[in-house]
Amino acid sequence: MVKIRKTLIAANWKMHKTVGEAANFVKDFLPQVVGVAEVDMVICPPFTCLPYLSAGLKDSCVQLGAQNVFWARQGAYTGEISTAMLQDLGCSYIIVGHSERRHIIGENDLIINRKLKAISEAGMVPILCVGETLPEREQNQAREVVRLQLEQGLKGVAAPELVVAYEPVWAIGTGINANPADAQEMTGFIREYLAILYDKTWAEGIRILYGGSVKPENIAQFVAQPDVDGALVGGASLDAHDFARIVRLNSNA
Ligand code: PEP
Repeated sequence: MVKIRKTLIAANWKMHKTVGEAANFVKDFLPQVVGVAEVDMVICPPFTCLPYLSAGLKDSCVQLGAQNVFWARQGAYTGEISTAMLQDLGCSYIIVGHSERRHIIGENDLIINRKLKAISEAGMVPILCVGETLPEREQNQAREVVRLQLEQGLKGVAAPELVVAYEPVWAIGTGINANPADAQEMTGFIREYLAILYDKTWAEGIRILYGGSVKPENIAQFVAQPDVDGALVGGASLDAHDFARIVRLNSNA
């Protein structure tokens, strides 16, 4: 199967790694992915590692992303970080709506919508995370939950350069990945719904990732699905060797 969309593998380090640990990761990881050209690679470290990685990844094929952002460009918002600050450090991608921010921090679709507008206006690429909880799946509500997250999150956002990550909440950090066929069913649905919200041709070009306990052993089954264009990887991205294996499984290099 030849896909028109380039595979994207993004690392979400969450609240892991000091600057020294990030430096060791880069030293181990970069030699393992030399020559990988068929896959876009992004690392989203904690904010504190961004300046180091901005320099450390500069001449590499690995791009930099952030795990969060605030919607204003600047101002009296103690503890927040703006798109301008992230751009200054060379970030191209920003994760928005991750389930840990929705469920632990309490971010709702209104906040996520504001962030998406800010990212889009700044010309950066959001990685919008959507996904249902286990009770929602068991009650056959997965499609409706994800549909609402897309509808409300993207309300009034000009057809942006967008990445969507389908991340069933019950699969994140649990070691229990979704069945690849279920991931296809949901990513296919997301693409169909984006075509309704925006435009069919545009939706065909949007990359939709799967996330939730992706490992070197299962990545190939996910990217083999027609509507899965890569992965958002948490736990397995913390180890340079495992993350390189995940990237290389979809590469001839
Ligand atoms: C994530 O944090 O987005 C994620 C998918 O985590 P994990 O790979 O550990 O399930």
